[in-house]
Amino acid sequence: MTATMPSFAQGRWIAGDGEPTPLPSAIDGRTVAAASSRGLDFAGMLAHARRVGGPALRALTFHQRAAMLKALALYLNERREPLYALSFETGATKRDHFFDIDGGIGALFAYASRGRRELPDERFALDGAHEQLSKGGTFVGRHVMTPLRGVAVHINAYNFPCWGMLEKLAPALLAGVPAIVKPATATSYLTQAMFEMIVASGILPDGAVQLIVGGTGDLLDHLGGQDVVSFTGSLATSLTLRDHPALGRNAVRFVAERDSLNAAVLGTDAGPGTPEFDLFITEVMREMTSKAGQKCTAIRRALVPRAYYDAAAEALQKKLGGVVVGDPRRDDVRMGALASMGQRDAVRAAVAILRGETEAICGDPEHVELRGADADLGAFLAPLLLGCERPLRATKIHEVEAFGPVSTLMAYDGIDEAIELAARGDGSLCASVYTYDGDVASELILGLGAYHGRIVAIDRDCAKESTGHGSPLPGLVHGGPGRAGGGEEMGGLRGVFHYMQRTAVQGSPTRLAALTHTWTRGAAETKQDAHPFRRPYDDLAVGETVHTAPRTITLEDIEHFAAFTGDQFYAHMNEEAARANPFFPGRVAHGYLVLAFAAGLFVEPSPGPVLANYGLDNLRFTKPVEPGDTIRVRLTVKSKTPRKPEYGEVRWDVEVTNQHDDIVAAYDLLTLNAYRSEPSSDGSSPSELTVAQGR
Ligand code: NAP
Repeated sequence: MTATMPSFAQGRWIAGDGEPTPLPSAIDGRTVAAASSRGLDFAGMLAHARRVGGPALRALTFHQRAAMLKALALYLNERREPLYALSFETGATKRDHFFDIDGGIGALFAYASRGRRELPDERFALDGAHEQLSKGGTFVGRHVMTPLRGVAVHINAYNFPCWGMLEKLAPALLAGVPAIVKPATATSYLTQAMFEMIVASGILPDGAVQLIVGGTGDLLDHLGGQDVVSFTGSLATSLTLRDHPALGRNAVRFVAERDSLNAAVLGTDAGPGTPEFDLFITEVMREMTSKAGQKCTAIRRALVPRAYYDAAAEALQKKLGGVVVGDPRRDDVRMGALASMGQRDAVRAAVAILRGETEAICGDPEHVELRGADADLGAFLAPLLLGCERPLRATKIHEVEAFGPVSTLMAYDGIDEAIELAARGDGSLCASVYTYDGDVASELILGLGAYHGRIVAIDRDCAKESTGHGSPLPGLVHGGPGRAGGGEEMGGLRGVFHYMQRTAVQGSPTRLAALTHTWTRGAAETKQDAHPFRRPYDDLAVGETVHTAPRTITLEDIEHFAAFTGDQFYAHMNEEAARANPFFPGRVAHGYLVLAFAAGLFVEPSPGPVLANYGLDNLRFTKPVEPGDTIRVRLTVKSKTPRKPEYGEVRWDVEVTNQHDDIVAAYDLLTLNAYRSEPSSDGSSPSELTVAQGR
């Protein structure tokens, strides 16, 4: 008898009690594992995450958590082979492993890099700029994001045992929230194998992650308002979970990614013989057959102009006829099995419903030619293309998701009708459009936008590098409106912010600057004896300020600058024309001259810790500078962000004022500043060192 796979609960591997559920291989029905979570202390798991995992994660900054994700990605990347071997048992081919295993590790890398680049080296994040709330500027407000103090409960679908886990773990851990992962039981042995590696790596703090192999028991009963349930799976399960009494009673945050009847639309210009027609055919075939069609983003509905319906049916039939189905371990096999016999039965049942409204173009749900496999033992299915020439009169083809290698070809008349048909999916994760006509593309994209989380425009110019219809990319939206989940954006930093609370904090500029480590106008300034350009990154304090000497700008300066740079714009050179301009009193200084003179006033010239000028943000010229005006500059350390072991980025708040104290230019200046101390011998930055020490 196969031993029960243990769950990872409260820092220990614990096998569930009683008779476990045997989990058969998708290829030949052998039992590969057995699952049971009976007897687990689910309330204890939540308490452990809240008591141990949450505080440990919250003690780290975003950059430290990002470094942790990167370390984990590197660790798993070295150990893919045994996972591939197990992944075959789920019916996946080598190419499919790439989406699930490499794709999941890729998500960790991507979140690590975004966390490092786009989030501060702090335990909180800021959202938006300071808002001045009073006339005198002594009362300001700011949105601050802090991690929830609860647990992220991840209930995942069976089709991506690794990616499904990692794409949710990455944002939760980056946010500073511990997670309990509950993979779908059918393929949980692969998730469990990867999870074992995560635990063995020792990279994550205690309590940061736990795993349930099997059912969730009474877990949901113990959730509260600081917890988040993130569900991926079918519409039906999502509705059951959302209506769970404890979730409603305790206002538990619930996000769902679920069924999606995604569409691919062939443009009215893209007839047979065009590259876009061929790209459409290839993409529909690819989406039907990769992961045996068990992808949430797969093309379920392929919409073509009526005039091209027959040609598209013929081309797809030919393409799909060449797909070799069988043992996914073989190199000559393109499509493996569905994840389980149960799933094959579910797809057959869905196809039986769809058949009521469609014709069969190719494939037989009851018969499949196999290479190296036995149809009686494994969950194999031939790719099935259905056709519907009157899709506006049909309903089931827009409602029933056959989660396998199944798609329906539909004829449309006119772009409005294509949009209406796609919209009948009631909200989808993604759509793709295939056209080389700019107007057709714009009309389709703008028409489809409201019903989709992502739209991919594929044409001959981008096809080679395009990731295709169905690949959610970490930085972009994943999720969709309506039926696909309700409009929650799961990709990118929005995914991180799902696990954080956004709070409006109001107070004096000094109070907020001290809290947020970000200086704002009106907050206290500090002054050191040394010019801030002489002070290394580590020593500089937020609020440190220099007020420069004044400098008067003459007409000769303006003419010299114009001659030197070649910028002879009339506003600087022609008094009459400048006066006729509604913004200028007469000839004025170039904005770039003001910037250059400002630098001349605040720069400390000798070699020192400032390594480079990295650019300007938020530059505005707010008032013209006339010949004879006298400018001066205030330069203040606004915020600091560690970048590399050798240097950090300093953001300076710069204000250039005239002799009346009016602001004539304001901007953020970015410089790269060296640390005081030498980098450590292993090349790690101070923040990476803290992570290592904190473990
Ligand atoms: P499912 O049957 O709805 O199951 C999803 C998850 O919910 C599984 O982990 C399942 O665990 C769990 N579950 C079921 N009933 C539960 C309950 N009463 N309490 C707690 N957990 C419960 O979906 P699936 O068959 O695994 O996945 C296929 C579906 O996922 C397809 O419809 C597909 O469209 C969708 N999907 C959507 C996306 C997306 O991003 N929108 C991505 C991937 C998949 P057990 O396995 O133990 O029952």
